[in-house]
Amino acid sequence: MVKKVVEGAVSLFFPAQCKICKRSLEPLNRSFICSSCWSKVKWLMPPYCSRCSKPFTPLDVPGGPFSLLCEECRTEPALYKRLLVPTLYEGVMKEAIHLLKYERKKRIFLEIKKILKRYLEQNSLPFSELNEIIPIPLHRKKLKQRGFNQAYLLAHFISRFSNLKLVDKFLLRIRETQPQIKLSKQERMANLKDAFQVRNGTSFRGKTILLVDDVYTTGATLREAARLLRTFETREIYVLTLARAP
Ligand SMILES: [Zn+2]
Ligand SMILES: [Zn+2]
Repeated sequence: MVKKVVEGAVSLFFPAQCKICKRSLEPLNRSFICSSCWSKVKWLMPPYCSRCSKPFTPLDVPGGPFSLLCEECRTEPALYKRLLVPTLYEGVMKEAIHLLKYERKKRIFLEIKKILKRYLEQNSLPFSELNEIIPIPLHRKKLKQRGFNQAYLLAHFISRFSNLKLVDKFLLRIRETQPQIKLSKQERMANLKDAFQVRNGTSFRGKTILLVDDVYTTGATLREAARLLRTFETREIYVLTLARAP
């Protein structure tokens, strides 16, 4: 209570700045980023790969706009059916996710929820096929450090929206892994080897699962989790992330 009053008084005399453009935030904006910056979030627009949602430039659309698989998806085994993703991981969204994860600005999620809601409402997503939603887990050390799992926040919101069951006890992260982004393909695979473990694997048999994470960069983490879940005879796996590397 006292903290709130003090915060209120401070913000009256020193209005908080938008973390991106540094202009003063609107008085009631508690999401660290001004509405003008939020409005610049880049939505994923077609054409893109029909599996991994990699955006295509018009020149590299393979065989016309409706038979789209990118080079990688044509050569790699299909571990999941489709990546559902509203935005591109660049500009505002990249900053926002960074603030959420590494500066632990959890209130960023207030705006992220709105973006996700808009996406869920405006797209016909395969909810009727799905049985369960599973967030990509954090290693317990990282969870303790951060205080929350951003993938869980997203999965929880989708679960409330769709009335689908959220299951977060049976896919576990048992090994700490390095950030994937600077690693080569071989290094990524080695980095993720045995990163996950499944408990109660028989409960996944015959189910269609939505795996949820915050960002799809190389896709290696989600593919590894999907690969492991498939060994328990799941029927189908979809993946959803808030943003995707362009
Ligand atoms: Zn701004
Ligand atoms: Zn693809």
